[in-house]
Amino acid sequence: MSIDIDEIQVLMAGGPERPSLAELLATLRPGWMKDARCKEHPDVNFFPARGQKTIAPRAVCDRCLVRCECLQFALDGELAGIWGGTSEQQRNQALRKGLDAAALLAELEAGVTGRTEAA
Ligand code: SF4
Repeated sequence: MSIDIDEIQVLMAGGPERPSLAELLATLRPGWMKDARCKEHPDVNFFPARGQKTIAPRAVCDRCLVRCECLQFALDGELAGIWGGTSEQQRNQALRKGLDAAALLAELEAGVTGRTEAA
């Protein structure tokens, strides 16, 4: 999968004008996007501030058909926000351990990698 990191960084640097996840995916158009469940939830915040609850976006991701593809996209792009039901901190830990999306999801399922921020 080819990711235009420059384009992502421009979009992510938007501050208060930052696009929603649905808008970001609509702009980037990764192949798996057509099945992204977050497109059906434009009011859910997938870019919570530190300490902000992440129950809502994680609940959307938990039942998403393309969770693994989305998570790999975020790992490859080292993106901020909730992607594939994981936080940036969880993905950074996974990257340090050399885990790909499937391995990280397996760890989460097994309870090896816990949720590390406000639930
Ligand atoms: S896993 Fe979450 S962020 Fe990723 S496409 Fe699905 S709903 Fe959207």
